[in-house]
Amino acid sequence: MYVENVIEKVKLKYPDQKEFHQAVQEVFTSLALVIKKDKKYQESAILERLVIPDREIYFRVNWVNDVGKIQVNQGYRIEFNAAIGPYKGGLRFHPSVNAGIIKFLGFEQVFKNSLTTLHLGGGKGGSDFDPKNKSDGEVMRFCQAFMNELYRHIGPYTDIPAGDIGVGGREIGYLFGQYRKLTNRFEGALTGKRFDWGGSLMRPEATGYGCVYFAEEMLKERGETLAGKICTISGSGNVAIYTVEKLYHLGAKPVTVSDSKGMIYDEAGIDVALLKELKEIKRVSLEEYIKFRTNAKYIKVGDYKEDTNAVWSIPCFAAFPSATENELNGKDAKTLLQNGCKCVSEGANMPSTLEALDLFLRAKICYGPAKAANAGGVAVSGLEMSQNASMHPWDFETVDKKLHNIMENIFSISSQTAKEFAEPTNLVLGANIAGFRKVADAMIDQGV
Ligand code: GLU
Repeated sequence: MYVENVIEKVKLKYPDQKEFHQAVQEVFTSLALVIKKDKKYQESAILERLVIPDREIYFRVNWVNDVGKIQVNQGYRIEFNAAIGPYKGGLRFHPSVNAGIIKFLGFEQVFKNSLTTLHLGGGKGGSDFDPKNKSDGEVMRFCQAFMNELYRHIGPYTDIPAGDIGVGGREIGYLFGQYRKLTNRFEGALTGKRFDWGGSLMRPEATGYGCVYFAEEMLKERGETLAGKICTISGSGNVAIYTVEKLYHLGAKPVTVSDSKGMIYDEAGIDVALLKELKEIKRVSLEEYIKFRTNAKYIKVGDYKEDTNAVWSIPCFAAFPSATENELNGKDAKTLLQNGCKCVSEGANMPSTLEALDLFLRAKICYGPAKAANAGGVAVSGLEMSQNASMHPWDFETVDKKLHNIMENIFSISSQTAKEFAEPTNLVLGANIAGFRKVADAMIDQGV
């Protein structure tokens, strides 16, 4: 009853924040057993405390576009929970950003960061600014204006933002430059920096590589591997690109990628160099891909069945949803399962709807929920913080090895916890309980 009551209160209090409800429901439903087993959590009002962020910062961002017109956007930084470390989490620049989206992401981040075994609290931020079709100068002026307010709230031991959708190396550069000018300090107040000026090697690759390492771990337990297997990937941002790259390292065959306008199905295997050129350098639509790879197919959004994602109609052994929240619904999950999909490892945050998640759990396939499977990105951000604090950069192999270890540990703690609660294949339950315990116990230790 306690768990249901807190979920209901969240829904009543924030009726418009649907994604936040979904995230709370997903996590808290899995916590019912541990809450029942250990009375201390209810006695300390842990769930009521977890659903309200420590602090929500909303601010206006004014900037001037290339034709001299003043533009106004909304900025957000939601500092959710700092019981196990300073607030840590990305910034998302996308027109869909609102308080509910940032709250769902911040809430998920608390448990994800806890699973990494590093000392990282949870937070998230962003803006409804759309970097698409903006010049470099416009993106720079927006980032500078955004930092003019954000800088007073962040710092290497307070709150450390990073990238997310719409915020990559270019945006982190402009944000860091402005932070440095305003504070006169060169310090690790942001992660995802370029290696030459304070970043970590492997940060761009980390989420995608980590997500594939996690899939490998899930499959290993069942005596399977990815070698020679067909894999489908949605998205074409840095998570998708480096998922494709790592799948090739392991001998798998990634055949799809997508963006907001359409998807590519390349039966011969996605050309990763071409993908990088189109998305990281030219920043153009995936439609361009078929000009260079004439045997590949391009399916436009809207040209496929309504209310389904064409990527998930392609038969595969393993699927890697790496685009955005709720991009894989119940219908898509049924199609994947009917086509024999054995593994889903989530690179995006909350890409599966609750219905899809339930279908995967009931089918008992290898299902790696986002907060476990995509934690490699924030984990390497944590490693970037260590390198900044010690003023000593590590080489690629050192970071890769640490990332690999972290992903193995996340799988093993999630799987052990699932077994402890007699649901051996349910990594949603395992990851949620394992992530929760560490944060909740720290909150109790540190008093009200
Ligand atoms: N935005 C990423 C995530 O969802 C990375 C956050 C970070 O590196 O702080 O976990």
